[in-house]
Amino acid sequence: MITPILPTYARADVAFERGEGPWLIATTGERYLDFGSGIAVNSLGHSHPHLVKTLQDQAAKLWHTSNLYQMPDGKRLAERLIANTFADTVFFCNSGAEANEAAIKMARKYHSAHGHSERFRIITFEGAFHGRTLATIAAGGQKKYLEGFGPKVDGFDQVPFGDHDALKAAIGPETAAIMIEPIQGEGGLRSVPHQCLRGLRALCDEHGLLLIMDEVQTGVGRTGKLFAHEWSGIAPDIMSIAKGIGGGFPMGACLATEAAAVGMTAGTHGTTFGGNPLAMAVGNAVLDVVLADGFLDHVNKTALSFKQKLAAFADGHPKVIEGVRGEGLLIGVKCRVPNTEFQAAARKAGLLSVGAGDNVVRLIPPLTITEAELTEAMARLEQAAAAVEADLSRAAAE
Ligand SMILES: *Cc1c(COP(=O)(O)O)cnc(C)c1O
Repeated sequence: MITPILPTYARADVAFERGEGPWLIATTGERYLDFGSGIAVNSLGHSHPHLVKTLQDQAAKLWHTSNLYQMPDGKRLAERLIANTFADTVFFCNSGAEANEAAIKMARKYHSAHGHSERFRIITFEGAFHGRTLATIAAGGQKKYLEGFGPKVDGFDQVPFGDHDALKAAIGPETAAIMIEPIQGEGGLRSVPHQCLRGLRALCDEHGLLLIMDEVQTGVGRTGKLFAHEWSGIAPDIMSIAKGIGGGFPMGACLATEAAAVGMTAGTHGTTFGGNPLAMAVGNAVLDVVLADGFLDHVNKTALSFKQKLAAFADGHPKVIEGVRGEGLLIGVKCRVPNTEFQAAARKAGLLSVGAGDNVVRLIPPLTITEAELTEAMARLEQAAAAVEADLSRAAAE
């Protein structure tokens, strides 16, 4: 019999009742250190007092009005994002996939507005993940997500990750844009080297292409800068964000330069829920914390400490862990055993993580994580690795 919730997810057999900072408390009372953060969403942990108060206050005032009217809190959030990024304008929506849909449509419309409607194709990279709508599964190009859902949406050309020649060869008269995650999240925390991002920017400029940065997972302080592309010193023309900006409240946004947004006039795009007062209040509250003096310094400091601890941990468990990768507090361990095995052992030891491609386990703590909590996490990871090693030697003895 089909489950009441459409069975499209393989869920772990645990449910949570409450969260406090980096902790999740299960319905059974067990406490877990949440190093998954709801897939890089709970950027400030659970029940952050400033977010809770903001949402409660807003809930008592106004929930939804639609985009038929002005939205002062949305304007304020857009202005703050603009003040802190390359962007001149922001479209608010409700998820990462929707932010990418806006980015894709905007890139096509840009060329159309310049009299080149034939330029609609977007180059993406193998291992990418851009969401689960029809267009974004075509952009991501992964067979497992495309299979059975009919003809792939046209207009996406995928090239191997890091293959500069293939990338140059893929640019044609119909190419509109290049779309890339500065660090592939779902793909296994593969970072694009800074000089490659600079090369991409130059290539886009040379061919009149727009550069779309998918920072849905890497954005909002996750890598120690507000946005990950800042590390490379270049800026995109369009950027999609989601996950961390709502701190757990569903929201997404597509940021763009004035030039890139040229075609997006009244009536060309929209969403009923996008930018609703609840989301805008929480988004502003997240920025209150992330933009505060010293916050990103804290992220960089703890990230460095975490990476050092993990490097030692990997050295100590060569049969389980192959290496450490990722940037900032978007870190992963590449496993020598199936990543699901290590993840399950970590959960048993009271630490939650998220799997990724390339046999990686992502460790994505809240940005507010403390040194003491990192130490506790390492103890739990040690316990998990020891359990996996015990299983390995038992299997070898049999
Ligand atoms: C999660 C993610 C998306 C999709 O976001 P949804 O909110 O699930 O639609 C898109 N791009 C990247 C890089 C992501 O990590």
